[in-house]
Amino acid sequence: MKKLNIALVAHDARKQELVKWCTFNSSILKHHNLFATGTTGSLIAGIPIDSENSAYPLKDIQLLKSGPLGGDQQIGAMLANGELGLIIFLRDPLTAQPHEPDVSALLRLGDVQKIPLATNVSSATIMLE
Ligand code: PGA
Repeated sequence: MKKLNIALVAHDARKQELVKWCTFNSSILKHHNLFATGTTGSLIAGIPIDSENSAYPLKDIQLLKSGPLGGDQQIGAMLANGELGLIIFLRDPLTAQPHEPDVSALLRLGDVQKIPLATNVSSATIMLE
């Protein structure tokens, strides 16, 4: 299996959904390099399950800045540099975000670079497979 750099981001209303998805898929995700915006990544790092090795299978996730403080832009920079293979971005479609320009820029760069980018867990599951 090719090791991918995977970025994970979730807006507040969707963080638990992403944590649940990461928990379910942790046996696959732990074999990849994970990056996440600060708050999202802290929650994922704290997922306390693993039947094989460590108690926290995704604890090595690399934390970027919180989204509103530049984390989305950091992911955008990784995208622009061709460093990401997959992005899971559970954005909140019902709430205005103070960093909406950053969110739009990230989504735009994903399309520019033609990188798989899932904004819901159904798409994320298909892409991970
Ligand atoms: P957070 O950022 O993980 O630090 O909450 C996510 C976002 O709002 O883009």
